[in-house]
Amino acid sequence: NSPTAELQALDAAHHMHPFTHGAGLRGKGARVITRAEGCWLTDSDGNRILDGMAGLWCVNIGYGREELAEAAARQMRELPFYNTFFQTTHVPAINLAARLAELAPGDLNHVFFAGSGSEANDTNLRLVRTYWHEKGQPERQVVISRWNAYHGSSVGSGSLGGMKGMHAQGGMPIPGIAHIDQPDWWSAGGDQSPEDFGLAMAKQLEDKILEIGPDKVAAFIAEPVQGAGGVIVPPETYWPEISRIVKEYGILLIADEVICGFGRTGNWFGSQTMGITPDIMTIAKGLSSGYQPIGGSILSGEVARVISDTEFNHGYTYSGHPVACAVALENLRILDEEGIVTRVREDTGPYLKNKFESLADHPLVGEAKIVGMMGSIALTPEKAARAPFAAEAGTVGLITRERCFANNLVMRHVGDRMIISPPLVISKEEIDILIERAWESLDEAHAQLER
Ligand code: PLP
Repeated sequence: NSPTAELQALDAAHHMHPFTHGAGLRGKGARVITRAEGCWLTDSDGNRILDGMAGLWCVNIGYGREELAEAAARQMRELPFYNTFFQTTHVPAINLAARLAELAPGDLNHVFFAGSGSEANDTNLRLVRTYWHEKGQPERQVVISRWNAYHGSSVGSGSLGGMKGMHAQGGMPIPGIAHIDQPDWWSAGGDQSPEDFGLAMAKQLEDKILEIGPDKVAAFIAEPVQGAGGVIVPPETYWPEISRIVKEYGILLIADEVICGFGRTGNWFGSQTMGITPDIMTIAKGLSSGYQPIGGSILSGEVARVISDTEFNHGYTYSGHPVACAVALENLRILDEEGIVTRVREDTGPYLKNKFESLADHPLVGEAKIVGMMGSIALTPEKAARAPFAAEAGTVGLITRERCFANNLVMRHVGDRMIISPPLVISKEEIDILIERAWESLDEAHAQLER
């Protein structure tokens, strides 16, 4: 047996993968990734694979940055762990919170740390309910979210999310969560203009608030650009109308920046790109470029003031883990000092947009949409009609993803959409390779379907 086959057999025997049907894996064996540098992964057979997904939308500064390894080692030697419960704190947590307060828009200026995006969204659920409780309106309990949104996998964050497959497995959503549709103009079909469609989707929020009763709604949560739900770039009319509605009914706005944050959309935060003023932002992933598990909630001064009036009975052992904070700080320094966010906005982002949108000329592709460095293409048998495939949703997406993988390109599929979210340091030459391999993989998928 080759070393790879041995690893795959052990993996199949003992390792349960997230979001993976076991039987599907056992047939083939999972690809074993052994090293990574910049935007390139190496597997156990020595193949070099272009990572069009930055891991799971997180390795914003690219792989292999020694500075982050050094920051971790330094912090581990000095203070590998101490908690931030009660009345203790430490330098990495203080400095990271202060830096995030500087970077975050508006008066978002207090950070509650968590170990992941899921934990941070669980925190948010408790935060908004505690906020209204302290404001003397404890009946404001309901948080409105969107179908197909992904806000994490814990029971709370999974309930906030709108993944029906996840809910169908039982116990979710927990009470006090409601959902409206995602503003996916392309998949909706029909003859409404994108502008009218955007307004209609935003109107669903107002209708839902009125249905529940405005005095019972605590918050609305959404990603500025929905990521795992298919990189759904909303029509331009959508966010201004949502902003008007949350203001009119006085409900809190939570922007889930787990994917959109830290340069992904060409600004530090997706809220800035979409012109949103949230009361709370969820952060994770790009905060440390995935080098350490860390997430958090950034709160406005007003939310922090109200919460601070009570004892917020909530926290994680690893809230503000010193090693994760030290690594995140170093990551933010690199993003800033190397001008990576500006480059995405002004240079490599526009270059990628131009190339990526040309994929819409492929016979298998309907729309191609991209903001900064998160983009998706909708696969279709019939462009003009914006038609879905006759086969079960996701079948053609899976075929295309497998063609990409065979061509040493990681692209993800969500149903019959193909997604990219490469490291933000991707060069123009690497963008050319990404687009070439995507086109080639689409050709192969197309030929396979014609057979
Ligand atoms: N929120 C969004 C928008 C995400 O995309 C994710 C993960 O993909 C999460 C929350 C959950 O984050 P984590 O996997 O770190 O728990």
